[in-house]
Amino acid sequence: MKKQNWYKLLYQFAIIGILVFMGFRLLFDKAYAPDFEAYCPFGGIQALGSYMTMDSLSCSMTSTQIMMGVALFIGIVLFSRLFCGYICPLGTISEWLGKLGDKLKVRITPKGFVDYTLRLLKYALLFITFYFTLKSSELFCKKFDPYYAAVSGFDSDVTLLWALLAIGALVLGSLFFRLFWCRYLCPLGALSAIFKFSWWFLGVMALYVILILVGLDISYVYPLLVITAGGYILEVTRMKKVWPDPVHITRNTVTCIDCGLCSETCPQGIDVAQMEKVTHTDCTLCGDCLHACPEKDTLLINKKNMKWLPAAVLGALIILGIAAGTLFELPTIDQKWGTPEQIESAGVFEMEGLKNIKCFGSSTAFANQMRRHEGIYGVSTFVANHKVRVLYDTSLYDDEKLQQLMFVPVKRVIRAVTKDVDSVTYYTLTIDKFFDPLDATYLQHLLNQKTEACGFQTEFACPVIVRIYFPAGKEPGRDALTEVIESKNLTFTSNDNVFHVKLPYRVISFEDASATISIREYASEMFTPKSSFFNGYSDYTEEIISGYLLPVGSNSEHADMYNYLISHLSNDEGVVGFETRLDENGDEVAAIWYVDTLTTPGEIFGYVNADTLLIHFSDGRTGRVPNPFRFREPDSAAAAERLP
Ligand code: SF4
Ligand code: SF4
Repeated sequence: MKKQNWYKLLYQFAIIGILVFMGFRLLFDKAYAPDFEAYCPFGGIQALGSYMTMDSLSCSMTSTQIMMGVALFIGIVLFSRLFCGYICPLGTISEWLGKLGDKLKVRITPKGFVDYTLRLLKYALLFITFYFTLKSSELFCKKFDPYYAAVSGFDSDVTLLWALLAIGALVLGSLFFRLFWCRYLCPLGALSAIFKFSWWFLGVMALYVILILVGLDISYVYPLLVITAGGYILEVTRMKKVWPDPVHITRNTVTCIDCGLCSETCPQGIDVAQMEKVTHTDCTLCGDCLHACPEKDTLLINKKNMKWLPAAVLGALIILGIAAGTLFELPTIDQKWGTPEQIESAGVFEMEGLKNIKCFGSSTAFANQMRRHEGIYGVSTFVANHKVRVLYDTSLYDDEKLQQLMFVPVKRVIRAVTKDVDSVTYYTLTIDKFFDPLDATYLQHLLNQKTEACGFQTEFACPVIVRIYFPAGKEPGRDALTEVIESKNLTFTSNDNVFHVKLPYRVISFEDASATISIREYASEMFTPKSSFFNGYSDYTEEIISGYLLPVGSNSEHADMYNYLISHLSNDEGVVGFETRLDENGDEVAAIWYVDTLTTPGEIFGYVNADTLLIHFSDGRTGRVPNPFRFREPDSAAAAERLP
């Protein structure tokens, strides 16, 4: 009976077991928020690439992923594609499905021209993936990666059709063709093969750096193209025959009995029984052939009996990668716009726990917000700890003033008050560990789920002041409200995704006794006017522009999505403006300005109540989101008055 390669199986079962455990825990533990790609080396290498070309880490990547990428590189250069052979979950699934295909006698191994041509696909995918990742600092592979699609539950980063095609290729391809995903489609497989030719990869990179240093302005696209194209040529021309890996499988031709078990067992389909040294690029040093060989001291690693070596090296690399990743953290963005003298004399302020700092996009938004203030010279962000570092003029700011700059006050309507409510009661309190807009979103969900609160607003102080409003008579006692705010966990749904969040809030004080105000005062306290003009508004004379007034009603709960509504309205070329205001009864109304020769109130009413909103993003992309707004017809078709 063939001996099992328990070194490899233990890794494979451990990885699949951990993923299954995380998946099941998600089902039963509502507060559990796993990061399924926390240790993905491919993401780390892409992030490192974008860091070198754009001074920013891709997406929400951290140093741990980068160090795992570095560990992957070292492992491949000195040993082999250990990640592919032992721990990649897609590789494991491909291998196990392939065994099923063999049992069903439906699996084939493409050879010759077909094999060589299909191998080109993964290099093309590698080029495309890196090209778009380095261009945008967002991980492009998330759009089609079957692993990410499955574990994220097809989140918004996934392009559904591409991911379904990739999953189909993984499952059906692996059943009918030997390691179809790994050999022909996996960009990490292509990158791993390139790293096997480290002299090629490092040579091109060194030449590129030299050319940049001598002053040539060369896009990263050229070295990327040369590296990927060269990698493909080196793989299919089997150059490993000329430069074998430092650590490789060797066969003792004297003691070998030519049983062929090694070739039969190799998951890569390498004909080990015909080689003295395994020099094939596909070899992952998985060790299956070593364990299958029935003859003592025949199939060895570098002519020595070290079956344990690849598994031990892989374990050491994983531990080293994680340890190195925890020792330091690269900033997600590191921007400085002050002069060298200003930066030299700048103070450094650091703040952790800013939940909104969670990816490249939110980091850039934060930097843009800070850049608007005089005396701020630079910003770095660290998404793993939700930390920011700000360089500032010490004569203009102290710690509290800087926190005030970073603070974004919010007003949130939780639910519209019903017509029968004529007064509102509020509490004013301070909350520790509550600072950024994401905290406000969590508080909104907490209050919505556990109280009858109708709204709240925040004001800067250390700690932050929060005023929470309830329809009079529906307010909970202080202790009950404190218990709600100090909830340890929160689960909520947004855009069909379920989020589980651990909360750290602590109520420090209730500053006033509760107070009661009229519904009109409440409306005016909570109201934040919104106005936007577009589609050439200023090109039209006042006589040509008409106004269409719509009661806002319960739509005020979605005031944070007015920008989406405005973007959608701009698709009607006759609509030229959008404003909100309070009418004489204190009710919020939306005034939509339009050119009556180009559109009509009926068409506008259809637009604002469409099932989905067609959005134009600042980078030129468009997208659709479900429309949360439902406007009712105005009682009278009164035209809006032009606001001063
Ligand atoms: S040659 Fe041996 S070590 Fe290499 S992939 Fe095949 S079975 Fe694994
Ligand atoms: S399994 Fe061992 S004995 Fe059999 S062919 Fe391969 S090297 Fe030779």
